Amino acid sequence: MYPFTFTKAAGIREAIDAGRRGGRYIAGGTTLVDLMRETVERPETLIDIAALPLGEVTVTGRGTLRIGALVRMAEAAAHPKVRTTYPVISQALELSASAQLRNMATIGGNIMQRTRCTYFRDVSAACNKRRPGSGCAALQGINRSHAILGTSDRCVATHPSDVAVAFAALEATVHLLGPDGQRTVTFADFLLQPGTTPEREQNLRPGELITAVEIPAHPRPLKSGYLKVRDRQSYEFALTSAAVALQVRAGVIREAKVAVGGVGTVPWKLPAVERHLIGQRPSDSLWIAAAALAADGARPLTHNRFKVELLKRTVERQLRVVGGSA
Ligand code: SF4
Repeated sequence: MYPFTFTKAAGIREAIDAGRRGGRYIAGGTTLVDLMRETVERPETLIDIAALPLGEVTVTGRGTLRIGALVRMAEAAAHPKVRTTYPVISQALELSASAQLRNMATIGGNIMQRTRCTYFRDVSAACNKRRPGSGCAALQGINRSHAILGTSDRCVATHPSDVAVAFAALEATVHLLGPDGQRTVTFADFLLQPGTTPEREQNLRPGELITAVEIPAHPRPLKSGYLKVRDRQSYEFALTSAAVALQVRAGVIREAKVAVGGVGTVPWKLPAVERHLIGQRPSDSLWIAAAALAADGARPLTHNRFKVELLKRTVERQLRVVGGSA
């Protein structure tokens, strides 16, 4: 590990001032410390934000759910409002990492976590994300766990978060505070596809701090859930996953929200699947037809072609779990 300066921020304004000067924010530290030990990350200054007042889950009068950036994963998963209104969020969190990590890691840190591409974490390997212009060892290497959607010829790494998939499905917004004031971006615009600049992963300006993630209110309740498919049933990242939320009224699907993980360079929303579902009556044939659209645009690599079919089956199964069989 390289030497660095560590400061504790006494307040939000002080943290942002330090962030503007180039410091890196740290809260749970469950990703950043690992990467520093491996010398993948070499920040000169860490700003400990763990004591800032951003650790509440609240519900506004109109029903918007606001999860503070410093709420721990375990706290968010167990919160009664999250559990009852958006089980897809609780399930995604509880299927992530390990109990110890969920007790430390924060919601803000979770969506900021960096890829698990093994070449990214091996400082001797070519990696455009870690060292722009150095190449991508995964393209010709072992790419079984890599992405099939949203890739570029510079980077094919997946985004590892589970709860980010649930947030993408529910069309969450990310609230930011920085030197120039507050800003809100949609979740779809917050995490960036690699394109020609895979080293740039989030829509963040210098010094900006995530303050909260908000889930918009839904006038009528959604039924939701998260399915994660992985090589082992604990402490493993997704090969594929599906976050599904449906509102069915009078036997007809009125709202459909679907996003998938483990397959995209960012959590991947499936608008074609959603459009196919809305206005239809739940049935096995509907789930199969909608799920058939899930991998549209996929560009599989040498070792991850299996993800195309696995993705369709994951979506089909989770639509059936949430929507029921007719
Ligand atoms: Fe680096 Fe992305 Fe290639 Fe992995 S897939 S080696 S993160 S450039």
